[in-house]
Amino acid sequence: MNTQYDLIIVGSGILGTFHAYHSLQKNLKVAVIERNSVPQGATVRNFGQVVPSGMDIKWQNFGKESLSIYKELQSKADLTVRQNGSVYIASNHEEIQLIEELHQINKTNDYESVLLSKSECIQKFDGLRSDYCKGGLFFPQEISVDSGEMIVKIHQYLKSQHGLDIYYNTTVVETTENNGLCTAITADGRKITASKIIICGGHEFKTLYPEIFNESDLEVSKLQMLQTKPQGIYSLPGNILTGLSIRRYESFSECASFQQIKDAEDKNSFEKKFGIHILFKQALDGSVIIGDSHEYADAKNSDDLGYDLNMDIDEFMIKEAKKIIDLPTYEIQRRWFGIYSQCKTKDIFEHQPSANIHIVTGIGGKGMTGSGGFSKFNINTIFS
Ligand SMILES: Cc1cc2nc3c(=O)[nH]c(=O)nc-3n(C[C@H](O)[C@H](O)[C@H](O)COP(=O)(O)OP(=O)(O)OC[C@H]3O[C@@H](n4cnc5c(N)ncnc54)[C@H](O)[C@@H]3O)c2cc1C
Repeated sequence: MNTQYDLIIVGSGILGTFHAYHSLQKNLKVAVIERNSVPQGATVRNFGQVVPSGMDIKWQNFGKESLSIYKELQSKADLTVRQNGSVYIASNHEEIQLIEELHQINKTNDYESVLLSKSECIQKFDGLRSDYCKGGLFFPQEISVDSGEMIVKIHQYLKSQHGLDIYYNTTVVETTENNGLCTAITADGRKITASKIIICGGHEFKTLYPEIFNESDLEVSKLQMLQTKPQGIYSLPGNILTGLSIRRYESFSECASFQQIKDAEDKNSFEKKFGIHILFKQALDGSVIIGDSHEYADAKNSDDLGYDLNMDIDEFMIKEAKKIIDLPTYEIQRRWFGIYSQCKTKDIFEHQPSANIHIVTGIGGKGMTGSGGFSKFNINTIFS
C-alpha cells in the first residue's frame, strides 16, 4: 500500500517525541504533527527533573532507561542535560525513617543511592537551613534538563540526523483507518497517510475521540509553578526534593513505615488540600524554579480547573520554600501553571480505536522521567 509514512505521531511533547525517537531507531519513516508552533503543553511547563528515585519499581526501570537515553542524546547534541543528581531532604525523624527504608529498597533494586548526614547536606547544598534539614538521600545518577529548550533541540536533532518530518502549527482533527491505511486529516484539509498512527495528545481531549476520553477514568491535574530571578553566582546543583515529597512520591509508598506515617497526617492541612510539596531546580540562567501544587478534575470537566493562578498557593509555597533554603533572592520573575493527564486506576492510558491507531496518554507526573524507557517498550510492542 502506498503510504507516506510508516508512522504518524500526533503530539510533539516528550511522550510523542520519544515514540518518534525509538521508531526512527528502527529505521521507520516517521512524521510528528504538532498543533502549536512548538510544544506548549506539560512538557515545556515542568521542572525538568528526571527522577526514577521517585517512581514505583516498574516506572523506576523505565526511568533508568530514560537516564541512559538522555545521556546518550546529550553526547550527540547539547540538550541541556546535567548530571548533578537528586536529593530528598528529610525534615524530621519520620522522613529520616522513610529515606533509610528507601535506601535499603534501592540496594535490593540495584539503584545507587547515598545517605547523607545533616552536615553533609548542609555542606553540599548552599543555603540549606540547618533548622529544616535532618539528613538526606542522594541519587547521583539522576539528571536535570531545561525542558522547553531541550524538546526543541531533540526535534532539531531528530530532523537533521534521523530524517524525522515535523509538521508544526498543524492540528489533526480526525484520524481514520481503512483497509490498513491510516490517515490523519488536518484542520487545513491535508491528508497525511501512514501504516500506523500513535496519538500522544497530552491532556487535549476535545478534538480527537472526545467520547473515548469522556468515558475513561482519565483526570487532569493542574500544577502551579514559580521561577525566581537569576541568583547571581549562587549554585544549587541537581534536583532538590524535600519532606513533603518524601511523603508524596510513589517510591516511598513501598517503604514499611509509609502507611503508618501517612495515617497520622492532618488530612485537612492547606498542603494536603492543594497537593503541595516543595521542590527546587536551578535553571541554566541561574534562576530557581519552585513548585508545586496539584488540583484535580475529571477529563470531561477539565475546564473546571480554571485559567487563573491561586495566589494563596503561591504565597504558601514561597513561605515553605524559605523555611528550607535561604536563596539569595526570592523575587519571582515568572508564575505559570501546567496540566497533565493521568488515570485513576492505571499507570498510563492506552486505547486502540482501530487496529493500527493507538492512543497513548495519561503518563501523569512521570513523563519527563518515564517516557524515554516506556516509549521504547511501546514501540517494540506496536511494531513486533
Ligand atoms: C508543572 C509540571 C511539572 C512537572 N514536573 C515533572 C518533572 O520534574 N519530572 C517528570 O518526570 N515529569 C514532570 N511533569 C510531568 C510531565 O511534564 C508530563 O508527564 C509530560 O510532559 C507529558 O507529556 P505528553 O507528551 O504526554 O504531553 P504534552 O507535553 O502535553 O504534549 C502533548 C502535545 O500534543 C499536542 N496535541 C494535542 N492534540 C493535538 C492534535 N489534535 N493535533 C496536533 N497536536 C496535538 C499538544 O499541542 C502538545 O504539544 C510535570 C508536569 C507539570 C505540568
